[in-house]
Amino acid sequence: MERRYDLVIIGAGPAGMSAAIYGSRAGLQVAMLEMGAPGGKLVKTNEISNWPGTIETNGAKLASDMFEHSTAFGAEYLYGNVIKVEDAGDYKKVICDDGEVYEAKAVIVATGTQERMMKIPGEAENIGRGVSYCAVCDGAFFRNQEVCVIGGGNSALEEANYLTQFASRVNIIIRRDVFRADSIVQKAIRENPKIHVIPKHIPIAVIDDGNRVVGLKVRNVDTGIETTIETHGIFPYIGLDPATSFLADLPVLNERGYMVVDENCETKVKGIYGAGDVIEKQLRQVVTATNDGAIAAQHAFHVIKGL
Ligand code: NDP
Repeated sequence: MERRYDLVIIGAGPAGMSAAIYGSRAGLQVAMLEMGAPGGKLVKTNEISNWPGTIETNGAKLASDMFEHSTAFGAEYLYGNVIKVEDAGDYKKVICDDGEVYEAKAVIVATGTQERMMKIPGEAENIGRGVSYCAVCDGAFFRNQEVCVIGGGNSALEEANYLTQFASRVNIIIRRDVFRADSIVQKAIRENPKIHVIPKHIPIAVIDDGNRVVGLKVRNVDTGIETTIETHGIFPYIGLDPATSFLADLPVLNERGYMVVDENCETKVKGIYGAGDVIEKQLRQVVTATNDGAIAAQHAFHVIKGL
């Protein structure tokens, strides 16, 4: 049997939770579907220092506070792994992999992004055996060991810094000789004696002993010379891809899979909205995600109530 709501929100990160607050406070019947823990990327982030009003907080704490707030005005929080969204004009169908179907007058997609894999031999089979995409979750397993971080963006450098509280040495492997990260993050890296930067190298294989990771094979992009770095922990942070495969049949995505929305966060399919990191935009931050969620929910409320 189909369950009916005014508004179904897919994803319970900062964007989805903000949409739930705005939608339910306005009096809409709201369901928020999530397939993992609430909080999205927040729960994988150690330190947040750009959330206005709080100079520094912990990601998990902010996620927990937001979750409590998001369900305080009647929004329902439900488990759901969405595999398809269908547009039937006045209403939308949200279909989950367990056969559950939700009907809604409006849908806000706030599913965020997923970490990109390196797509090299040995990577996939060693996830959980030394390859990790979450330093906050797994960093403590590498106490007094040497680890490698791949990438030179904000994620890679912030997580490398975080890992130095456990690891004896953190190698950052970048394919150019410059970082992409903000200068304030680069400064912290330069001042950390446990961090060693290996420029102009790309990872080509994860080496294991049949049980766990023991090395990372890299290639110098100038000379082509291949070497193996002895390590038990490999943390790839080479960028993100939007989690939008379940929208493939709708005309709402750009060529890179991000949702294209207007100033109301609405796609060209009326009643289907995008909010947070999943949409095409310049600045992906907690503060911009919450902004999108509020705008989308408020616009959906106006349309549903015919205001
Ligand atoms: P980015 O896209 O910013 O950086 C990806 C990094 O990985 C780059 O250094 C890139 O190299 C490298 N890379 C990409 N592909 C490969 C590959 N195949 N092999 C080796 N290296 C590769 O991704 P992030 O996840 O760091 O950040 C995503 C977004 O989130 C950004 O907008 C970022 O600013 C934001 N963010 C903001 C934070 C904050 O403000 N505190 C914290 C974390 C993220 P190259 O530079 O050579 O292309």
